[in-house]
Amino acid sequence: MPEATSPGKIEVDRELCIGAASCVAVAAQIFDLDGENKAIIKPNHQGDLPTVLNAAKACPVAAIYVYHKDGHRIYPE
Ligand code: SF4
Repeated sequence: MPEATSPGKIEVDRELCIGAASCVAVAAQIFDLDGENKAIIKPNHQGDLPTVLNAAKACPVAAIYVYHKDGHRIYPE
């Protein structure tokens, strides 16, 4: 995957997540729900940055944080 299109760290704020599963609907290759109906990031997912951002923007409570490889937060801004 080209460096520019691969995301850095992705985090889900479990306190905010309401299990709406919008992220899973947008990007099931990256997100899943755990037994508590909270989103988790699949290990070793191959999601690209545009897809990750689409999923983060689809979250109704903005519980998905996306970071650039250099560590700065891309979303939410
Ligand atoms: S879209 Fe947001 S609230 Fe819904 S499961 Fe994903 S992280 Fe949680």
